[in-house]
Amino acid sequence: MDGVLRKTTSCQADAAGPSGILSIDLAALARNYERLSGDLAPAKAAAVVKADAYGLGADRVARRLYAHGCRYFFVAQFTEALALRPRLSADAAVFVLNGLQPGNEQACARGGIIPVINSLEQWRRWAAVAKEVGRRLPAVLQFDTGMSRLGLAPEDRPVLAELLKTENGIDVLFVMSHLASADDPDSVQNGDQQAEMECIAAEFPQFPVSFANSGGIFLGKTFHGILARPGIALYGSAPTSGAENPMEPVVRLDVAVVQVRTVPAGTRVGYSATHVTTGETRLATIAAGYADGLPRSLGGRGAVYCDGVRLPIVGRVSMDSIIVDVSTLPEDRLRLGSLVEVLGPNQTLEDIARDAGTISYEILTGLGQRYERQYR
Ligand SMILES: *Cc1c(COP(=O)(O)O)cnc(C)c1O
Repeated sequence: MDGVLRKTTSCQADAAGPSGILSIDLAALARNYERLSGDLAPAKAAAVVKADAYGLGADRVARRLYAHGCRYFFVAQFTEALALRPRLSADAAVFVLNGLQPGNEQACARGGIIPVINSLEQWRRWAAVAKEVGRRLPAVLQFDTGMSRLGLAPEDRPVLAELLKTENGIDVLFVMSHLASADDPDSVQNGDQQAEMECIAAEFPQFPVSFANSGGIFLGKTFHGILARPGIALYGSAPTSGAENPMEPVVRLDVAVVQVRTVPAGTRVGYSATHVTTGETRLATIAAGYADGLPRSLGGRGAVYCDGVRLPIVGRVSMDSIIVDVSTLPEDRLRLGSLVEVLGPNQTLEDIARDAGTISYEILTGLGQRYERQYR
């Protein structure tokens, strides 16, 4: 028993080295920010850094963008704002898109976090807190212009207009809404939402407007308002689906080979033997699976790359590993610890998302915590 335990310990010590390396190019991120800022001027670009900056690290991303002039940061949840707020200078604003949750009001006011007010009930609670703390509190007002997700409904607007006539202790910085189909310039929904936003701007002319996400920026000036809220475009993914991507890639993912073997024709590969080799085949097992954000739907469809050569994924994607056919590579090319490209010059986020039957957002935000993150 003792001997077995000792053996296990020494084996673990041997297995050093990361299973995968997720590299994040902060200079490319900054260039994407500057590119969008240039397109938007005189409107400003905020940065949407929710979900840990789409998985890339909200702290690193936000501080880098602050250094390039960004002063407006949007997260989805209050806990994200609590973590980010102290990492940025006081002249940066941190907004919570999901609104003002009951129980968070005091902490929100104390922490200098700005809620996006999504209902009259949230407005009343924020006004009550302003009274309690005895000072004016900032807020953003979100309106639903046709997505039915978050924001004040059309019937709330007359009530709000009345509330705004009396002293309420809230400084509204701007009004906002979110586009549901901005990645598709041909969608009629963009024009419908734009028309609704114009009505809101006319009803509340005292407040400036924030409207566009990444896709919205490329729909043109009428969608810009004073402040756009790009997320995915900053991180290098295409803002408009099906069109050429004007953004620079920010992420690269390489995963380590953990086993290489050659098998004869007729060999079953992976769970449930969904793949059976038709000839002698060299297989490599790589150290990432669906627990690392590479969806099961890539089984038998996706690929990884080495030296620009496509290595198809064979059989099912496992939790911690994927088997790829490496027969087309020189025999001694891959060894234990060799890295293969999952995301990089040969395979974009859009490519892998298409093979997996999903969108780049889901791939990016799903990339797990087991990769070593390297910031360049
Ligand atoms: C996520 C989000 C964004 C950013 O969207 P992208 O498509 O990633 O640019 C902007 N505004 C709101 C309200 C969001 O929820």
